Amino acid sequence: MHFARSWRQQSSNLRLVGSRCASCDAIFFPERIRCTGCGSSELKDYRLSGRGTISTVTRVFEAPRGFESQVPYFAALVELEEGPIICAMLTDVDQEDVSVGKKVSMVTRRILAHGDDGPIIYAYKFTPELEG
Ligand SMILES: [Zn+2]
Repeated sequence: MHFARSWRQQSSNLRLVGSRCASCDAIFFPERIRCTGCGSSELKDYRLSGRGTISTVTRVFEAPRGFESQVPYFAALVELEEGPIICAMLTDVDQEDVSVGKKVSMVTRRILAHGDDGPIIYAYKFTPELEG
């Protein structure tokens, strides 16, 4: 992971900020500079609710470099209630809590740590919403 880029993305990763098209109201995550719906370049920051539904999920046993210490973990495609679909790790979750259609919400968690005294990268993960 590139430190400068990850630092710039840190705030949008912590607050789940995407873009909303001023012309057609399409909502995107991550942020975009041009609308893929109508072609407008008038997009404004849009804070997403962080709530969504699992549309696909898998359990990862062989992680990419940097994530080895977190295996096994669940990775899911989460359809946000505003429409965008994002890929995210699930956290604080048991096997029986993981299924397609499950309601989840965003939490902030440590994603990567670079050694004992290196930078720690925080970003979003999703956890099942409490029922009832
Ligand atoms: Zn548009």
